[in-house]
Amino acid sequence: MRGIGAYLRPRSVEEALDAKASIDGSRWLAGGTDLLIGVKDGKERPAALVSLRSVTEMRGVWHDGSVRIGAGTPIADCLEDPRLAVRLPVLAQAMTTMGSVQIRNAATIGGNLCTASPCADTAPPLLVLGARLVVRSATAGGTREIALDEFFRGPRRTVLGPHDVVTGIVIDPPAASVRGVFLKKTRVQMDLSLASVAVLLDLDGDRCRKARVAVGSVAPTPRRLLEVERVLEGEQLSREVVAHAAQIARDAVAPICDLRAGDEYRRHVTGVFVRRAIEMLLAGRCS
Ligand SMILES: Cc1cc2nc3c(=O)[nH]c(=O)nc-3n(C[C@H](O)[C@H](O)[C@H](O)COP(=O)(O)OP(=O)(O)OC[C@H]3O[C@@H](n4cnc5c(N)ncnc54)[C@H](O)[C@@H]3O)c2cc1C
Repeated sequence: MRGIGAYLRPRSVEEALDAKASIDGSRWLAGGTDLLIGVKDGKERPAALVSLRSVTEMRGVWHDGSVRIGAGTPIADCLEDPRLAVRLPVLAQAMTTMGSVQIRNAATIGGNLCTASPCADTAPPLLVLGARLVVRSATAGGTREIALDEFFRGPRRTVLGPHDVVTGIVIDPPAASVRGVFLKKTRVQMDLSLASVAVLLDLDGDRCRKARVAVGSVAPTPRRLLEVERVLEGEQLSREVVAHAAQIARDAVAPICDLRAGDEYRRHVTGVFVRRAIEMLLAGRCS
């Protein structure tokens, strides 16, 4: 492919980190569904591509107390894991909406987060689930964990250094009483979202013990709406409280206006989705 100096295919995380550190300006390549489009368009000119496709230790879904997903696991493989949809239904809901079969076969969960697009569909569910990223570095050495809500710095920007690689995502499944919903608005089928919302509630009847709310495509990064969570937690979720939460959500987001939708429309959809998600959870219409 034009514009790429070299293509390296390491077989372990160790080899990958060495390969990456050996060429300044090289980039990680996972499924390539974002990066290679940029390369083809001439917007990205990496000195080399270090492919993660043969790093088998970064592929798979492991269940113990937590769920650990290898960063190089394609979305389709995540969806094929029989326990993922049971333990993390809100994440599985989001994954089923992503792209086409071909995109889900190639696109990885790590690439979806590391590309740091405001519309990355796995981000809102992983934010409400309190996911942590496992990061290895060629320079810093060792392994560290980064909470997902501290990971994004801006559109296409994360806290990762040039020689860091995300090797996995760790999620502690919520208590059995917790239910979640993911809602996504697109212009047409198989399009990127113009607004998305993930809501996780721990309900005792109509009373909300705990709330987690996150949005995509309506701010420079996917983010939690702490102000909405505060309105819900400890409250009886009456129509008034839910309407207030939806209004706060509308006011809290900072969408852009682009070819997919205007900022006012994105705000409107955010409010509607927050209300709808809470109503679905109150009615038990969710997993
Ligand atoms: C037709 C089409 C439809 C799409 N539909 C959707 C959709 O519905 N929802 C959605 O969210 N996205 C969608 N996308 C965007 C894209 O498919 C996803 O963001 C995908 O998950 C990216 O993952 P990837 O493995 O292909 O990443 P790549 O393109 O390989 O990499 C993306 C970026 O992340 C970096 N990176 C990758 N892995 C790591 C790692 N482990 N550690 C550190 N950095 C890493 C790369 O260097 C690069 O900068 C669509 C794309 C296309 C082309």
